[in-house]
Amino acid sequence: MSGDDGLRTKLGVGDVKPQPVPELVGKLVLGRYKVVGVLGKGTMGAVFRGTDEKLARTVAIKVLHAHLVDDPTMLARFQREARVAARLQHPNLISVLDVGETPDGMHVMILELAHGPTLAALIGKKPQPAARILHLVRQLLAGLEHAHDAGLIHRDLKPANVLVETSASGEEIARIVDFGIAVLRDPDDSVAGGKLTSTGQVLGTPLYMAPEQAKGDPIDHRIDLYALGVIVYEMLSGKWPFVGSAIEIALASIAQDPPAIAQRAPGVNADPLLEQFARKLMARKLDERFATAHEARELLDLIARDPRQAGLSLGIMDVQRALEVITLP
Ligand code: ATP
Ligand code: MG
Repeated sequence: MSGDDGLRTKLGVGDVKPQPVPELVGKLVLGRYKVVGVLGKGTMGAVFRGTDEKLARTVAIKVLHAHLVDDPTMLARFQREARVAARLQHPNLISVLDVGETPDGMHVMILELAHGPTLAALIGKKPQPAARILHLVRQLLAGLEHAHDAGLIHRDLKPANVLVETSASGEEIARIVDFGIAVLRDPDDSVAGGKLTSTGQVLGTPLYMAPEQAKGDPIDHRIDLYALGVIVYEMLSGKWPFVGSAIEIALASIAQDPPAIAQRAPGVNADPLLEQFARKLMARKLDERFATAHEARELLDLIARDPRQAGLSLGIMDVQRALEVITLP
């Protein structure tokens, strides 16, 4: 098998079949959650709005596609991760409230219900003001730090997995959803102690996938920092760093640094400090990437507090010139 074929298999290209949404509206699951309506559908399952009859509160109910959990090893792995995810409690994460199996074999996760659009819907494909990026990304880093400290890697961070709520005072609150679920995508990676085999598949988009993950190299929490870097790049420029087929994107992320935003999105006046911040999150060499979410958050705070010092920390040669185009308030 050529290298490209291996990557193609890993990406599951051509393998993602549309799955029907199970007919659950009006039914009770796990003995206490009433399914009220459909919220959405993704590659891993369908999401419903529901009510916890016992505690009289609204919930989200995620029903996993049956084929993802039909292998006992995968199921055990998912259940282990779900238990860790259920321990996470942080304002910037959507908590897992319950997990279980219905009598007819459907695997269900009960989640906090978020009221708000996904980050994907919120930003569209438009460049965002620097202040909004700082505000939201800071929260995403706080959520990631909490999860990483608990030993959990998200593995599938992307704007569709961030829900943005608005607080009573009008502040935007970013909350990461789907922690504990993406292990089902990648059955045999280094975290499980195995080696990537030709059966290893990653469903969904490679747009946010770190190069080490695309290559099948060992991964750690820093794949989430890479994904966040792509999100920051997207919020700054309105564009993804690489486009093309799944395989072209994966190969580009392995072989190239992201193009300068001035080149990728001419006419967009991206904040140079935040651009450099995104590049440091997306560094292909692991020792050039931020080591932890905490470290990245400190740098982000420095950008807000002392742009000159932050520019120096980020290794920007001509800080003065960079600061002249800065768009921060
Ligand atoms: P993937 O399967 O790759 O994660 P996805 O994130 O687009 O793709 P789902 O995770 O299945 O798909 O979610 C589908 C939609 O359901 C989301 O885009 C979101 O609109 C909604 N949703 C998911 N979880 C919640 C939640 N806890 N509260 C409110 N809405 C949610
Ligand atoms: Mg999702």
